[in-house]
Amino acid sequence: EHPVDMAGMLALLRKEVMALDQHPRDVRLLLESDVLLKGVESELHSVASNLISNAVKYTPPEGEIELRWWVDEAGAHLSVRDTGVGIAEEHIPRLTERFYRVDPGRARSMGGSGLGLAIVKHALQRHDATLQVQSKEGVGSTFTCHFPRSRIIPRSAGALATA
Ligand code: ATP
Ligand code: MG
Repeated sequence: EHPVDMAGMLALLRKEVMALDQHPRDVRLLLESDVLLKGVESELHSVASNLISNAVKYTPPEGEIELRWWVDEAGAHLSVRDTGVGIAEEHIPRLTERFYRVDPGRARSMGGSGLGLAIVKHALQRHDATLQVQSKEGVGSTFTCHFPRSRIIPRSAGALATA
């Protein structure tokens, strides 16, 4: 495990997704902290990229997507919010099951296998983190990752460690 720069990772992912999107749209980026996270960079990258690609996939071109990274007394938090199709309440507890998709017909036409959120959940578990899902059908969704304080490395300490 190493110090991972989540703010930098989100900024890069945002650029990538905006470049790949068929519908040019702005992805808002709110970086409110520059602390580092103790973790495995490839796993944290797959968490962020799966959540962001879902937001793009399940949000119409005129919708909004916002990435936020912040720290408070509880720990460090990453959220991906969209104003997309949303998810009915009864599906939310099952979203992280492998191959679970809310609307298999619609989802199949958009590609994917229903593995993304299962990967996210396992990667978060390995970082002592949890996934919170808030969603309303037809309104949008917010997926938030909560990392405990024990995972936070102040940037100055990270710089000292590598000096
Ligand atoms: P894959 O990630 O393997 O390409 P997928 O996106 O369908 O396929 P998951 O990422 O695991 O699979 O998501 C599971 C299901 O949860 C999706 O099929 C979709 O129905 C629903 N879902 C996930 N993210 C969102 C979102 N941001 N808005 C609305 N529905 C979502
Ligand atoms: Mg997905």
